[in-house]
Amino acid sequence: MLTNDSNPATPVIEIHDLHKAYGDLEVLKGVSMTAPRGHVTSLIGSSGSGKSTLLRCANLLEDSQRGEILFEGEPITWKGEGLHRRPSDPKQVMRIRTNLSMVFQQFNLWAHMTVLENVMEAPITVLGRARAEVEEKARMYLDKVGIGDKCDVYPAQMSGGQQQRAAIARALCMEPRALLFDEPTSALDPELEQEVIKVIKALAEEGRTMIIVTHDMRMASDISDHVIFLHQGLIEEEGTPSDLFGTPKSERLKQFLSATV
Ligand code: ADP
Ligand code: MG
Repeated sequence: MLTNDSNPATPVIEIHDLHKAYGDLEVLKGVSMTAPRGHVTSLIGSSGSGKSTLLRCANLLEDSQRGEILFEGEPITWKGEGLHRRPSDPKQVMRIRTNLSMVFQQFNLWAHMTVLENVMEAPITVLGRARAEVEEKARMYLDKVGIGDKCDVYPAQMSGGQQQRAAIARALCMEPRALLFDEPTSALDPELEQEVIKVIKALAEEGRTMIIVTHDMRMASDISDHVIFLHQGLIEEEGTPSDLFGTPKSERLKQFLSATV
């Protein structure tokens, strides 16, 4: 069951003052952000600034040492302190992970399964949905991302752009509350990048809640409601795309933008 909170004003994810270290290495030093329902939030910043870590902390793939994370208004409950802090409720963790579907840079499709089987796997094994119902949805989502004709092929027989679109269909088939993308176009050649960007744009126009880590400033500018610039584990600047890309204030952001153009 999902949370009872159906108030559209409640963000899907809220993060307050999050701290995360790997051993002695402090990676997030007090980050706060929200992913409002129906909004696209982009995370930008240099390599190593903590973008992937923030995304992974948000869906509890990583533990964090301090700060709060709320999913649809429901705070994660923790046990232990500091480096020993862990979520205390496995059912809550499962509910959150299944409702925040990740799309990774490297697609992470199962090589030994067809595209259709890849998309059907988690709804059946994790959510316990009926095969026939899942198959219908899987075909619908594969159509939606423009590879409805690839159901029976294996990932290796497809281009990178097609594989990433299959990974997006797989994430959609979980019917999550939000989609989290970690550099979804970084592994693709420029001409294949565009077909994936088109799909992500269409999802944004549908009003899906998304957090997108990207190095693609044009995509971030085109589709985001809110952009966050991370620098060394802290939010250096945030705002609308026109604020950040049009009138950047911090010198670090100015430098970052001039280096990425
Ligand atoms: P970004 O996605 O912005 O490039 P990351 O979140 O991947 O940055 O990494 C932030 C910092 O954390 C980097 O210094 C990276 O080397 C370090 N880091 C990331 N993952 C791990 C890990 N599993 N163990 C140790 N250090 C890590
Ligand atoms: Mg990263």
